[in-house]
Amino acid sequence: MSGAPQILEGLGVSEGIAIGRAVCVEYHFDEVYRFPLPVERLDEEVERLEGAVRQAEQELRKVHRGKTTQKLRDEIGGILEAHVLLLKDRALLDRIEDRIREEHVNAEWAVHRTTAELAAQFEDIEDDYLRGRNQDLLDVGYYLLRALQGVSHHDFSEIEGDIILVADDLPLAEAVRLGRNQVVGFAIGAGGRTSHTTIIARSLKVPAVSALEGVTALVTDEDPVIVDGELGRVILHPTPAMLEQYRQRQKELKSLDTRLLATRNIASVTRDGTAVILLANIDLPEEIEDAVAYGAQGVGLYRSEFLYIEKSPDLPTEEEHLEIYRRLARGVAPGPVVIRTYDLGGRKLARELMQTREENPVLGLRGIRLTMARPEIFRTQLRAVFRVAVDHDVRLMLPLVTRVEEVRRFRAFADEILDELEAEGVPVQRDFQLGVMIEVPAAVWIADRLAREVSFFSIGTNDLIQYALAVDRNNEHVADLYQPLHPAVLGMLRFTVEKARAAGIEVSLCGEMAADPRLVPLLLGLGLRRLSLSPRLVPAVKERVRSHSIAELTDLAEHCLKLPTATEVVEALDSFLATEKSPVREGPLKEDALSLATREDTT
Ligand code: PEP
Ligand code: MG
Repeated sequence: MSGAPQILEGLGVSEGIAIGRAVCVEYHFDEVYRFPLPVERLDEEVERLEGAVRQAEQELRKVHRGKTTQKLRDEIGGILEAHVLLLKDRALLDRIEDRIREEHVNAEWAVHRTTAELAAQFEDIEDDYLRGRNQDLLDVGYYLLRALQGVSHHDFSEIEGDIILVADDLPLAEAVRLGRNQVVGFAIGAGGRTSHTTIIARSLKVPAVSALEGVTALVTDEDPVIVDGELGRVILHPTPAMLEQYRQRQKELKSLDTRLLATRNIASVTRDGTAVILLANIDLPEEIEDAVAYGAQGVGLYRSEFLYIEKSPDLPTEEEHLEIYRRLARGVAPGPVVIRTYDLGGRKLARELMQTREENPVLGLRGIRLTMARPEIFRTQLRAVFRVAVDHDVRLMLPLVTRVEEVRRFRAFADEILDELEAEGVPVQRDFQLGVMIEVPAAVWIADRLAREVSFFSIGTNDLIQYALAVDRNNEHVADLYQPLHPAVLGMLRFTVEKARAAGIEVSLCGEMAADPRLVPLLLGLGLRRLSLSPRLVPAVKERVRSHSIAELTDLAEHCLKLPTATEVVEALDSFLATEKSPVREGPLKEDALSLATREDTT
């Protein structure tokens, strides 16, 4: 289909330019449409339903066969088996079929209504077991809808050329799978700048624009599309001149990249000689090559949960953990590797682990809470860390800590595992370095007490901003309110750095704020000397470090800390940067944190 160019404005969440053809996918099943069907189509519709049942069953069996450990078979196998049985349950299928025939409706609608009705009936039952069946019913309804809507068949191998995936939302596992294959760009309806899916897009170097509400309704399969991850734009039906301009920009970005790579061995020091350690955030193991190439001095954050998500529904084995940790450690030796224990739960759902459906998962069983609720899942991971730490500088970090007890309980659990390994005669590092993420305001407030329990902090501003400002980091409707430069956030950064310094422990910042070169002067002024960020942004941040002296940055931070609004902080930063001696980067700058703060809601 051709048409006039149309520009959609969203959030540029992964830099770069992608040009390709649209493939539209709907991942949300909340809206199931009802179509009236003529009588002569009803047999065909029932056949569609039966085909979907067969397909869903095949997929469930495939997942089930994929299990390796007995424990996992016990944990998940039972649920999958129950789902297969339900799928084959004639009573259920007859009800769905009757609805198609009696109401003359499409199979999707019949599945949706029937499973929802039955599940509601189960909900009121006293018996726990039967009540639990309502979730099974809803799950089976979901599988059938997936099969009917063809979602499980997203294999794009038959589509030629570069694909721009246009979707309402993008589940994490899908982002990893598709980004590694033919998809060259993402245009997503949901999501803020620091959603985990967009972090993955950056890791895979796939340009992405999110917060494009209703995008799937605007785009048709095969539409020519440009994704401009720098400006946060998606252009539908570009003119030949636009295409030419964007191809040119792609070339420029490539040559800029070559120049950035050449900065690898330049020291990361300020004008007055203060060293600033730049570390890499790694989500997928293959990124370690980039970390080395762009000059990161270590890994400041390995988000190990992505290993879990990738392997799901299998659990990663001890050997798989070992192999990745060794690969990371060897890559950046003698620099350190900070392995964050699985930060699952929240939106990085692991339903087989959770066994619960939470109303508000971001405030639920997430991070360290889930670790301690299901410690056996983490045993494998910790065994691998303690083994690798014998001859590599790998350190452990706990996510979403809010209480000192969590650190103490974790240590007791770690001791148990160390004893277990020693009893097996396996060499281990008993004296391992343990740190915590500071990403909840409660952790900031007790930073002095936490500092007595651990050897380092890493400030996770992505979550800290979300929890401090009560703004969901994934919600495009409040993206404007997600303000990294909010005075409360700056105050918390300063407070945490002071407490860490007073206790004599290391403090770094690994949220996306560290990856924005324009915020770096302020972060250094607040006292930070270690930043962890996406590998590709290390050169740009390093140039910023080299452009200033600590004395002037301290003054800048002192001034900004007194300002009452994020907008004024932006203005102060802008005027400071205008006086900067050496321009550090070519091409359009990212607008992110600064422009967000400028759009402060004054109502
Ligand atoms: C953070 O919250 O800032 C962080 C680095 O962790 P994640 O983005 O994985 O939640
Ligand atoms: Mg976090």
